[in-house]
Amino acid sequence: MVLTLVELDEGVPAETSLEALTLARDIAGQTDSSVSAVVVSDEAAAVADELGDYGVGEVHAVEHERLDSYAPEAWAESVDQVANELDAGAVVAPGSDRGHEVLSHVAARRGVSIAANCLDVDAGEEYEVTRQRWGGTLLEEARLGGDTKFLTSAAHEVGIEPAAEPADPPVHSFSPSLDDDVFRVQVDRYEESEAEGVPLGEARVVVSGGRGVGGPDGYDQLEDLADLLGGAVGASRAAVNEGWRPHDDQIGQTGAKISPKLYIPCGISGAVQHMVGCKGAENILAINTDPEAAIIQKADYAVIADLHDVVPELNETLRET
Ligand code: FAD
Repeated sequence: MVLTLVELDEGVPAETSLEALTLARDIAGQTDSSVSAVVVSDEAAAVADELGDYGVGEVHAVEHERLDSYAPEAWAESVDQVANELDAGAVVAPGSDRGHEVLSHVAARRGVSIAANCLDVDAGEEYEVTRQRWGGTLLEEARLGGDTKFLTSAAHEVGIEPAAEPADPPVHSFSPSLDDDVFRVQVDRYEESEAEGVPLGEARVVVSGGRGVGGPDGYDQLEDLADLLGGAVGASRAAVNEGWRPHDDQIGQTGAKISPKLYIPCGISGAVQHMVGCKGAENILAINTDPEAAIIQKADYAVIADLHDVVPELNETLRET
């Protein structure tokens, strides 16, 4: 049996969980087994029908008085106990932050490997997986060991396909035994982002700043440029780490993925982890003092100059036109 962790997003199965179920069904088909879902929520019963559409034969609803908010180790312990009880041959989690975090904890508890960001699984004797590395810039073929296989699906890469024959899964309630020490980390509250204007992921123009901007005040000019072009402002991780911009603005492997018509990185060197986030840009216009910077090789257009001279001039010209 292939056990799949399903996360709910405002009461419905998250897209990444439907991807995980699609991958799980493929594995189950190859191993002549079935797919079960584990849902850590008291809303599990309400989504059973929808999970049945994706071929889930049984839903296991984890219920515990202290699991009213997310606690990674407690989720992991619960998933581990369900997997143990059902003698799961594989455990698949969505390629989301939580999916990766929870399954890594489960695998670490058992001292076995996990294959993250899988696109395809050949569940034969060798158990070969094709998975993304380096934020999707590299594809790796690997063999996954261990009696129980632990893997996550690559987010937004594995297509979502309903089952040819929908199931009508029963919902079994599961009460895990959880010690205090698995509640060392638990979400206390959420804060809504105060971001205004065009969301980064949807912007047609993104102007972003890196360490070369030199400080938080340097972003005023970049914000003016983004406003004049009807775009949004982003940042490199270096700028975010300096505390110059919020993490929501970060573009890259560990930040937002953007696909604007025009991307204007200012004072950004073009590290591979940054480029992963902007590889969907149609055109890149880099502004950098260093002609040898990697971003210059990757840009369609480049201005080799100080951004503090170029951006104000650009703004002035745009205001006049
Ligand atoms: P730097 O590399 O210091 O580059 C600054 C650039 O500014 C230089 O090219 C310089 O020539 C130029 N410059 C300086 N002054 C001026 C000026 N006045 N005018 C014009 N140009 C100027 N990075 C990300 O961005 N996003 C990620 O999601 C991300 N994830 C990561 C994940 C991992 C696991 C790791 C290990 C790293 C990650 N990084 C990420 C960090 C990444 O490797 C780089 O360190 C980072 O992108 C560098 O930021 P930067 O280009 O702003 O700074």
